[in-house]
Amino acid sequence: MAEAEKQVHQCTRCGITSKDRVLLSAEFNGEERWVCVACLPYLIHGAE
Ligand SMILES: [Zn+2]
Repeated sequence: MAEAEKQVHQCTRCGITSKDRVLLSAEFNGEERWVCVACLPYLIHGAE
């Protein structure tokens, strides 16, 4: 089992991966986005 074969997403705002922080998936304008829990408040308040 190679570690590199895991599907790891990146936060669309800060670029951190799910290896380092919990990421949540979301849909925006028909596109799938991934955002980490630290950036979630910014997403909620619309300050991107
Ligand atoms: Zn982030």
